[in-house]
Amino acid sequence: MHRVSIHWFRRDLRLTDNTALHHAARSSEQVIPAYILSSWRKNHQWTGPARQQFLCGCLESLAGNLNTANSRLVLRQGPADAELEKLIRETGATAVFTNRDPDPFGKAMEQKVAAVCARLAVEFKSFKDCVLHEPDEVLTGEGKPYRVYTPYSKNWLSLPKPVPVSRVKSFGAAATVPSLPPPTLKTWGLNPGAPLIPEPGERAARDRMKQFTGSAILRNYSQQRNLPAGQTTSQLSQDLRFGLISIRELYARCAAVGDGVSILTYIKELAWREFYMAVLHHWPEVIEHEFNADFRNVPWPGEDSVFEVWKQGRTGFPIVDAGIRQLLATGLMHNRVRMITAMFLTKDLHVHWRLGESFFMQHLVDGEIASNNGGWQWSAGTGADAAPYFRIQNPWTQTKSYDPEGAYIKQWLPELADVPAALLMTPPVRPLSPDYPLPIVDHSLERNRTLIRFQHARIKR
Ligand SMILES: Cc1cc2nc3c(=O)[nH]c(=O)nc-3n(C[C@H](O)[C@H](O)[C@H](O)COP(=O)(O)OP(=O)(O)OC[C@H]3O[C@@H](n4cnc5c(N)ncnc54)[C@H](O)[C@@H]3O)c2cc1C
Repeated sequence: MHRVSIHWFRRDLRLTDNTALHHAARSSEQVIPAYILSSWRKNHQWTGPARQQFLCGCLESLAGNLNTANSRLVLRQGPADAELEKLIRETGATAVFTNRDPDPFGKAMEQKVAAVCARLAVEFKSFKDCVLHEPDEVLTGEGKPYRVYTPYSKNWLSLPKPVPVSRVKSFGAAATVPSLPPPTLKTWGLNPGAPLIPEPGERAARDRMKQFTGSAILRNYSQQRNLPAGQTTSQLSQDLRFGLISIRELYARCAAVGDGVSILTYIKELAWREFYMAVLHHWPEVIEHEFNADFRNVPWPGEDSVFEVWKQGRTGFPIVDAGIRQLLATGLMHNRVRMITAMFLTKDLHVHWRLGESFFMQHLVDGEIASNNGGWQWSAGTGADAAPYFRIQNPWTQTKSYDPEGAYIKQWLPELADVPAALLMTPPVRPLSPDYPLPIVDHSLERNRTLIRFQHARIKR
């Protein structure tokens, strides 16, 4: 039993079904809950104001929940290893508990903290928490990682699933050590981003989870999930990203609903999340390079000017522009439209997928390095289990299939509110409205250019 231990919160900003916190509380008289704020610079490549704003709200909610349990969140800022070392010395803690973080930066920091603990003769305990199965639990018969999703998912689905642990209610005496005030965007020198981000915090996320798992949205998921208008999906990705809900509880709630095709389809999406985490774990170079070595020499001649137009949602392709406007307004974008916008940037505008990847990371509230990299490489045709490079989605026919009434487009592009839906599905010959541009490119021409780019790169290799 430890007299004092520290729970280092990272991507687990909740008290319910939190593995490391549960173990810390069971084996300590006093648990000091701590969060170490990063010192992101203003223009950091991997985050932006929407996600940091959401984080601020999550920390505020966590601090409130801890106060209700007669505890107190200790906030510090700086390199986590140095800050935790100070906190260990100030509190006399003899153990640090944390849940493992799948991000490369999180993993590297965990090693540094473990080294600090070893030097100070303090116990360091890390736990599986943000996934149902960690990368090394889902391997081929030869003990190798999977390069494609389908066999990975079959194995993943067949494994017994971990069950939730109880909510921590008691932490011992509240910490008396100094703590920083709750962060705001000014902490990182950021200006406000998307105005319509989801409500942050554990309670709001739990409400969303309960609402989704008890609703027709889950029961109709397999038929509806590709339609971007209205709510057709769980909209829980930011909650999984920050650990506001536990993946074990989400899985258990879905499984309790039944084993119909929609439930299975949904659970398979959760497996995609863990597949991409496994890819990033086993092939960390995907952050820098194409997963498929055949395509590491593909040229990306797209110019800055077209990238700027795409970033503003002014390409003249309504489904693409609606997606970007949704992202800029809410910090989120429907999955089908993420695929369409990403494929359009890489295959129609020939801009390097890494630029789009970084733009998404700076704007998404659910920005997750593994899923985002996987999604971009899939769309660019360069990734693990990617759409083959010759399968190039046509934004016009995609609109016809998935937004036939134009409801999604009209929601995010008010300048097209009065345009008949049929006109949103074919390249227009004259402007659709005085405020809306003509298409920036001809899709069929650009498609052929992309096929040539990829074929040449393959031949050269
Ligand atoms: C270019 C691109 C970039 C993406 N970037 C991210 C990202 O940064 N963060 C992120 O969480 N997802 C990302 N995705 C995956 C997917 O778009 C989102 O997870 C999904 O839109 C979130 O909405 P939802 O919670 O309603 O999903 P649902 O359809 O309800 O799916 C349930 C959960 O499964 C997971 N999931 C679903 N689809 C995928 C997928 N294709 N890959 C990995 N996990 C998936 C998510 O955790 C999601 O919350 C990206 C996809 C693409 C094509």
